[in-house]
Amino acid sequence: MSLKSMGKVYLIGAGPGNPNLLTKKAERIIRNADVILYDRLVNPLILQYSSFQTELIDVGKKPYCKHIQQEDINQKIVRMAEKYQCVVRLKGGDPAIFGRVTEEINTLKSYGIEHEIIPGVTSASAAVASLNIGLTMRGIAPSVTFSTGHFKESTNKDIDIRNLMNGGTLAIYMGIKRLGAIIEQIKNYTSEDYPIAIVFNATCYNQKVITGKLSTIEQLLNEDNSEGQPGICILGPLVNEIDKMVLDSTMEDVNHILYVINGDKENAMLKAEALYEEGKNCLLNFDNSYHHTQQVLYKNIMDQHDISYIQA
Ligand code: SAH
Repeated sequence: MSLKSMGKVYLIGAGPGNPNLLTKKAERIIRNADVILYDRLVNPLILQYSSFQTELIDVGKKPYCKHIQQEDINQKIVRMAEKYQCVVRLKGGDPAIFGRVTEEINTLKSYGIEHEIIPGVTSASAAVASLNIGLTMRGIAPSVTFSTGHFKESTNKDIDIRNLMNGGTLAIYMGIKRLGAIIEQIKNYTSEDYPIAIVFNATCYNQKVITGKLSTIEQLLNEDNSEGQPGICILGPLVNEIDKMVLDSTMEDVNHILYVINGDKENAMLKAEALYEEGKNCLLNFDNSYHHTQQVLYKNIMDQHDISYIQA
């Protein structure tokens, strides 16, 4: 196949889930996409920006399962670039942070396929923004470390806490399931009882925050029912700067109403953005049909939620 007939691949960050945090550039390309290969953590609402003709492919890897191998995804992207002109690879947060973007770029390079990375708001930024604190602070937190809490099985590595011990902020992705082991690791290096905040579903209608200390957080987490939700751990002195009022406001009960928006696509999207801004959850019903990508959303929440129908 000649280079000219190959499409261009955009590796796009969808942000933490709230559609209002998608970049304008990402939205523009999603609207023009011929095909979108998307991850599990991408809010289905964001996929609805695409046109009705766009092929939407779920390549979501379930956490802690070998659901789809990265190599299969790489090959799938290549096949799509052979078939289509505008190929979107859509990932949660920022594709450059624990997004396997380098593996995908290397594959594209080896096939001579044109590509571009469009950054997104990473979960750590989204989480601290919702807590009204920074990731760094002059005089208090001179650095920030982004770490995975889930190393390759073969490499039994410890999280690097050197910056944390120097006052820095440590953001741990994919760490909830292994939190106990991570805390044990940290205790091996220091007796400091660091403050920690865990933010689930940052910036979305179902955001939840748990704060505590290294010594208490596991108990608090066990008492909570957030299993399976994406959550990020933020540790370090900056966590002490969180205002109690901010915490109280993020503690409010999740709004259990599901807003089903009927109407034409553009108006429905605008309405959905506005509802998300108010911390509400919605489902789009263009021309009286839900797109299949919203099924997950629909199935998970139907049982627990009241439904309110809105005309856009
Ligand atoms: N590229 C993504 C991270 C992918 S790794 C980014 O930049 O955010 C997946 C991990 O990201 C999850 O295990 C969780 O720790 C975190 N995460 C993703 N979305 C999140 C959200 N909305 N709220 C909190 N944490 C989230």
